[in-house]
Amino acid sequence: MKSHAHVGRGCSRVGCRSIATMTLTYIYAESTAVVGPLATFSEPHAYDLCAIHGERLKVPHGWNVIKQELTGNEPGPSDDDLMAIADAVREVARRSDENVQTLSEDKAQTPIGRRGHLRAVPS
Ligand SMILES: [Zn+2]
Repeated sequence: MKSHAHVGRGCSRVGCRSIATMTLTYIYAESTAVVGPLATFSEPHAYDLCAIHGERLKVPHGWNVIKQELTGNEPGPSDDDLMAIADAVREVARRSDENVQTLSEDKAQTPIGRRGHLRAVPS
């Protein structure tokens, strides 16, 4: 679907044909949306947005929005720093997914652990 685009990825909003200039990442575990530099590769929780849709971003009630400025005109973190922050945030999002999987595995293993405990109790 994206293979014909040679100038970059497009905005992920339906009906929008603009080139994406930023990436929106949802962190469901922390009810936070992060708008930052365009991600170098696609991820399950990340959506590419053009400048217009990035500006108009709306999130569910109670969610936080972290916007990483992209102007480059202000003193502050360099693009590399922002990219590192965005990567760190995405890493957290990835770990959240892994935690969910780990929890369900633990639950599945509970009967085995309980059996071992009962065996240790003198009757
Ligand atoms: Zn758009």
